[in-house]
Amino acid sequence: MAKEFDAIIVGTGIIGCAVGLELAKKGYKTLNVDKLPAAGYGSTSNTCAIVRLHYSTPQGVAMARESYYYWLDWPKYVGAVDEKGMALYQNTGCLVTKNEKNHYLKNVMASLDELQVAYEELGPKEIREFLPFVDTKKYGPPVVAGDPRFGQPTGGSIDGAIYIPESGLVNDPQLACHNQQRGCEAHGGEFLFNAEVVEILKKDGRAAGIKVADGAEILAPIVVNVSGPHSFKINRMAGVEDGMKIKTRALKQEVCHVPAPKEVNYNMQGTIISDGDIGCYSRPEVGNHILIGSEDPACDVLEWVDPDDYDQDFSYQWKTQVMREAQRIPELPIPEQHKGLVDLYDVTDDWLPIYDRSDLPGFYMAVGTSGNQFKTAPVAGKLMVELIEKVEAGHDHDNDPVQFYMKYVRRDCNIGFFSRLREINPDSSFSVIG
Ligand SMILES: Cc1cc2nc3c(=O)[nH]c(=O)nc-3n(C[C@H](O)[C@H](O)[C@H](O)COP(=O)(O)OP(=O)(O)OC[C@H]3O[C@@H](n4cnc5c(N)ncnc54)[C@H](O)[C@@H]3O)c2cc1C
Repeated sequence: MAKEFDAIIVGTGIIGCAVGLELAKKGYKTLNVDKLPAAGYGSTSNTCAIVRLHYSTPQGVAMARESYYYWLDWPKYVGAVDEKGMALYQNTGCLVTKNEKNHYLKNVMASLDELQVAYEELGPKEIREFLPFVDTKKYGPPVVAGDPRFGQPTGGSIDGAIYIPESGLVNDPQLACHNQQRGCEAHGGEFLFNAEVVEILKKDGRAAGIKVADGAEILAPIVVNVSGPHSFKINRMAGVEDGMKIKTRALKQEVCHVPAPKEVNYNMQGTIISDGDIGCYSRPEVGNHILIGSEDPACDVLEWVDPDDYDQDFSYQWKTQVMREAQRIPELPIPEQHKGLVDLYDVTDDWLPIYDRSDLPGFYMAVGTSGNQFKTAPVAGKLMVELIEKVEAGHDHDNDPVQFYMKYVRRDCNIGFFSRLREINPDSSFSVIG
């Protein structure tokens, strides 16, 4: 006999677990299923877990701001005891440099203003006073490492920055997923690991469950695709990809793990830095280290890949990123040994996520998180449940988008903003910044 649930969630990353937790809280009999051996072992395991509030649209800031409060009060959100302990939000602040590409942060500051998020504008001199290890020369726009202009200042100082004190990181993203799992289980939710979904079952014109690799069928009238970089594969299994205007693809990313300059206590003095002038973002890491990721500047070739068949080694990109960061932090050591990680983003055409229903009744998706939705997972979970409940009750979300009330920022979120049927959003940064 096939097992039956009210809802099956494909994926146990930070967003898959959030959806499971919220559905279980509402009384749904849920099953989170993952082909990996434990929660948070997919792309969530390698996230930089930065919780920052700056986005290019008010909707982006609102979701990040709302989620921020859940991270601040994580045990209350999880609502259960985890024998492994609880993930912890650590405040570091975040400096964002102004440049031509980000329109000198005009949209970002307007969006922060709209949500009443505090920030301070700093000129080059004030940046150097605040972060004495930083060089404020302008190097952008970024070029590839072989270019004769690489590492050469382009004249004058950067055009200032903003500093947002309320920003930070989550110390253990995998543990955060385990916490959500325990929260979900406390409401009767179940988890199945080492089980690869190979088919989305259909009956009477709607989703009816899943088939896993060993041939077992598990039935549920609701199936939610939260499979991260594999999202397009699961959408294809369900036969819903052709009906989407905005699609998803997997993008290779490399994050460098390097020691901070010896004379700097980076865990005490450092901050998150989002720096389009050099094409990198960075954050303090335990043990006086720095994590450096790419902001994917226009000069770099993006490596779109098959998530089941790609080169998981570092490439020339690793050294490029460290050398770019060394333009801003001149004393940064550039180690010979490459340390860090290689993983994938699940990217949409406009780098904004898709939180939506699909053309197949009963089949939903929380996908295309574009390298920037770890922080928003708690709200994404709540938003998806609101959407599922309304659509299952007959609401025509495609023509009359469901609104979701965000209790902390006291503002409605129009879930239609994240529609699979939207036109490409021109206000996006078209990068990991969202
Ligand atoms: C290098 C890197 C750095 C990042 N940094 C940040 C950051 O600083 N801040 C931020 O907010 N966001 C960041 N992100 C983005 C963030 O981590 C993701 O948006 C988020 O973790 C996605 O969670 P998820 O639950 O949607 O997907 P995932 O964590 O990828 O989970 C999907 C799960 O689905 C499972 N799955 C896939 N296919 C199948 C199948 N057929 N059957 C069964 N299971 C399947 C996978 O095994 C996986 O466990 C970063 C991402 C990366 C890769």
